[in-house]
Amino acid sequence: FHDRDGWIWMDGKLVEWRSANIHVLTHGLHYASSVFEGERAYNGRIFKGTEHSKRLEFSATTLGMKLPYSTAELDAAKQLTLEKNGLTDAYLRPVAWRGSEMMGVSAQANTIHVAIAVWEWPSYFSAEAKMKGIRLTLSDWRRPSPESAPVHAKAAGLYMICTLAKHKAEAEGYQDALMYDYRGYIAEATGANVFIAIDGKLHTPTADCFLNGITRQTAIELARRNGIEVVERHIKPEELANATEVFLTGTAAEITPVGEIGQHRFAPAQICKTVMDAYSDEVRKAPKAVAA
Ligand code: PMP
Repeated sequence: FHDRDGWIWMDGKLVEWRSANIHVLTHGLHYASSVFEGERAYNGRIFKGTEHSKRLEFSATTLGMKLPYSTAELDAAKQLTLEKNGLTDAYLRPVAWRGSEMMGVSAQANTIHVAIAVWEWPSYFSAEAKMKGIRLTLSDWRRPSPESAPVHAKAAGLYMICTLAKHKAEAEGYQDALMYDYRGYIAEATGANVFIAIDGKLHTPTADCFLNGITRQTAIELARRNGIEVVERHIKPEELANATEVFLTGTAAEITPVGEIGQHRFAPAQICKTVMDAYSDEVRKAPKAVAA
């Protein structure tokens, strides 16, 4: 992924893609002192960009890292990187990490670095193909309790569990894994939140030990706006037997219907379609003008 043309914003400057390198003794690499974002731009506009910048700051603060840039500076840097790469529809990956001055668990004085990369990442499936639904397996790896990890931060360290779960799922021929939380309730997929339709209502796990996705929050709002009742609660795995439709939400995944989880089968239908269509409109529409 490193050997290509393009520009990456690194610590305040645009550098050539191939030259955006760091030292092997970087604290972020050894001890996972790294936080990141995943965002999408549509028609040249970053969807909820400021919310993503604020979440990056929240994640950094949670790990005791003070970012050397303000929200407005991050927003401007993201827009600049998008434009410098000549892209209007793209995925953005801001990342912040502790540098290489000191090596050891403690690295209080290490410089906090920030970089922003952007690349084209089209929806993998067409809307029609998406309606067939992806295949998920249930993972043995669970989301940790809030007492074991900073579960609300988008922190690199938490993704060790996701990569383990996703690699195993892929090796078994599935597209992704659905993970339980530390109590055995349904939590989320490896890079997306989950929604389940039962009796015409949408149910989604309470985000008390995993990322409360920006797409998740958008989907809740859009479903309600379209007259679909949404319930946030703890969901037991056996309730999947009563589900008629299931979908995942995430910046990269957008709204992705699910056709299969373990022995359960679902037929993506009107609820999936309503939320998919509403999301696709929402991300492309111009933000409301703010009254002066
Ligand atoms: N959970 C995990 C583990 C994720 O990586 C993501 C993607 N950032 C999400 C949920 C969804 O978050 P968002 O909708 O903000 O992209």
